[in-house]
Amino acid sequence: MKVLVIGGGAREHALCRSLSLDPDVSSLHCAPGNAGIAEVAELHPVDIMDGAAVADLAVSLGADFVIVGPEAPLVAGVADAVRERGVDCFGPSREAAALEGSKAFAKDVMATAGVPTARSYVCITPEEVDAALDAFGAPYVVKDDGLAAGKGVVVTDDLAAARAHALACDRVVIEEFLDGPEVSLFAVTDGETVLPLQPAQDFKRALDADEGPNTGGMGAYSPLPWADPKLVEEVERTVLQPTVDELRRRGTPFAGLLYAGLAITSRGVRVIEFNARFGDPETQVVLARLRTPLAGLLRAAATGQLAAYPELRWSDGAAVTVVIASHNYPGTPRTGDPITGLDDVAEKDEHAYVLHAGTRTDDDGRIVSAGGRVLSVTATGSTLTKARDRAYRALGRIGLDGGHHRGDIAAKAAQAAQD
Ligand code: AMP
Repeated sequence: MKVLVIGGGAREHALCRSLSLDPDVSSLHCAPGNAGIAEVAELHPVDIMDGAAVADLAVSLGADFVIVGPEAPLVAGVADAVRERGVDCFGPSREAAALEGSKAFAKDVMATAGVPTARSYVCITPEEVDAALDAFGAPYVVKDDGLAAGKGVVVTDDLAAARAHALACDRVVIEEFLDGPEVSLFAVTDGETVLPLQPAQDFKRALDADEGPNTGGMGAYSPLPWADPKLVEEVERTVLQPTVDELRRRGTPFAGLLYAGLAITSRGVRVIEFNARFGDPETQVVLARLRTPLAGLLRAAATGQLAAYPELRWSDGAAVTVVIASHNYPGTPRTGDPITGLDDVAEKDEHAYVLHAGTRTDDDGRIVSAGGRVLSVTATGSTLTKARDRAYRALGRIGLDGGHHRGDIAAKAAQAAQD
């Protein structure tokens, strides 16, 4: 199978790494990719928001299968453009991707499907905003309706700040605060059958102990030793299957990766948000544990053949990933800093590897930072403690001037598991 992956972050590097290990993949391409992906795939410069350009590339390569990583091209209809040219594509249609692209749409789907989520109001006018903020009280949760690259959500005790964010958006969802640990659960679906993957937890804040500003994610681990063993089954029954059924009923079936961001509250599981694609950095740890070859699984989803798909196979062990971010991230990051020690990681520990996010090769052939999140240092082990120790040991070998990372990824979970 000749496969083309769209995107250029650590999620796409994780996808490409798994695809490169799949014996059914004969040739692997990525657009635009990054310096790390270049080691396992041939890179192509293309505007990934341009559906015609992506479809042209797929056709000219003779690709059998395209996988779209990020949300923005999906919401823009890039997967539809590829399918229209007769090439199989993993990723929902533009209409189904609205599950991520519009929080109001997602709330409507959940309400109809009876999926448990925070009570909410969709507000446009200042009067509606004030009434909603008043109805829920602090802490206030205010979400821009549209795609905002993780920056659209404000959770605050400060009424003035909540109000200011709400008024700066055209349309906002204001909702009840959900207390409790968060879980990310991905499911591969063909629009009918849902195959949940293993759950993971990510760390959104920039600093240790969940201090500092929100980021795209600073690390993740899987499995979750503290979670109820029935969690996946319950979420499949109460969240994933009803959502997929409702979108099919509406005539906009969702085929691709359905990502449920969940809060485990004292009153039960609630959906915080849906995403229409693999999450970053959770993908790095979920795929590190998946033993089923990836290309066949995703292609079965893209071609409506999951009903008869064999049960997924997983490693019993654990995986941890720690993100190294640029100086000043999540503010405007400094880029162009050389990265050292990458070869050292590969040489010293076969269970640790570095997935690239914002990197590129400069004119002198050096690998330098090129974005906010730069690297995802990933490791596996028989226990969370072992995976965690390996990830941090590998991270210690890497140099990035001004780079920063969290020191507590998976720490509590590893300690609680006492492994
Ligand atoms: P979202 O973009 O919807 O995932 O929101 C980003 C982050 O804001 C989530 O990962 C949560 O940590 C937080 N958040 C969103 N909605 C709520 C809520 N209703 N209650 C508490 N925290 C929330």
